[in-house]
Amino acid sequence: MTSNAELIARRNTTIGPYSPLFYTEPLQMVSAKGVWLTEANGDRYLDGYNNVPHVGHSNDRVVRALCKQAATLNINTRYLNSRIVDYSERLLSTFGHGLDRVFYGNSGSEANELALRIARQHTGATGLIVSDYSYHGTTISLAEMTTGLKTREPLGAHVRTLRIPDLDRDPRPEAEVLADTLAELDTAIESLQEAGFGVSACLFDPLFSTEGMPRLPEGLVPAIVSRVRAAGGLVIADEVQSGFGRTGTHLWGHDHAGMIPDLVTMGKPMGNGHPMSAVVTSEAMLDEFGSHNEFFNTFAGNPVSAAVGEAVLLEMEEEQLMQRAATLGERALVSFREFADRHDFVRTAKGSGLFLGLDFAIDGEPAPQLAKQVVEAMKKRKVLISRIGRNESVLKVRPPLAFGPQELPLLLEALDGALSEV
Ligand code: PMP
Repeated sequence: MTSNAELIARRNTTIGPYSPLFYTEPLQMVSAKGVWLTEANGDRYLDGYNNVPHVGHSNDRVVRALCKQAATLNINTRYLNSRIVDYSERLLSTFGHGLDRVFYGNSGSEANELALRIARQHTGATGLIVSDYSYHGTTISLAEMTTGLKTREPLGAHVRTLRIPDLDRDPRPEAEVLADTLAELDTAIESLQEAGFGVSACLFDPLFSTEGMPRLPEGLVPAIVSRVRAAGGLVIADEVQSGFGRTGTHLWGHDHAGMIPDLVTMGKPMGNGHPMSAVVTSEAMLDEFGSHNEFFNTFAGNPVSAAVGEAVLLEMEEEQLMQRAATLGERALVSFREFADRHDFVRTAKGSGLFLGLDFAIDGEPAPQLAKQVVEAMKKRKVLISRIGRNESVLKVRPPLAFGPQELPLLLEALDGALSEV
């Protein structure tokens, strides 16, 4: 086995030291199956964090589908092949609200970038509205609107940000918080119009995952949608984190949030680790974009990706993974709330389905160091989790959806111990 020190040294002289590693002492993983990962020294870790291996690490059905199709045909969409049509029909059957067409990409960033292009084409405007603590990808236009991650790119002149409130952290009455947030949105819209950019799109994650899953005022999300539309803009739901049944209540985060977007972008769990992404939209939007742009993406929509994507949806359906996420999530939240009652430094328990968090605060102030200690204490107990939010003070528990009733007690027991230790 290559030691961590040696591997890090070689890594630093090849891909450089700037790709972040988890943990003070990083984990060197060698294999994974289901919701368990194995480290180079043979230790096993329970995965309470990774949403990409959605139906489980190295899932048999997905790996079989991938290998079989890779050994048969892998080609681009300039040739006819039924795979991508079969998959598209299956994927689109999970959407309502006239969202019945799909473009493919290879990453969440590509999907968001394309959604922005479609919105610009449709509206003729360039102005964008995003939350003031968000991340949507790596391209230059997405870097220009990144507010929740270190980036050297300054915010674009055509970008306005909206502070997403959290009622758990805001002592004001809910109605006041709602009114203030919408007033801020109105100001952003006016500012874009006055500057001549107009409103092209408002792009946000319906769960506000990066923001730390804030508790929102009732009706905020639908009100954002209607104000952006009234200003002539489109609404893009970034479902890279919220999609594919993550919340347990709905397959799509926009339905969970009670909103109807014009465009939905997705990635991460879509291919269970195989790089694929998509933009789902309406026929009118697809036709409008398509008639002005010859859109071709070399790898996107290839039959191997389609086979993998289909296997993911089939596995979810047959194993009833969304329903399981709902049941397990409810069970976990009961314990999370007990933890919040028991420990002064836990402000609230939050989340839905298999996306759960604990918000840490000391004397009303966010406590990121404490959250960090808990993440490390969980690692010591061989359970992987992480943290999110404006101050990185919210624990992020977001296991593969293949997480089972036998694993939940292990995670809860570890968390109980970790919270008592810090
Ligand atoms: N949107 C959201 C909400 C994300 O969490 C991410 C990835 N962290 C992206 C977009 C970008 O996806 P990718 O890394 O596949 O380009």
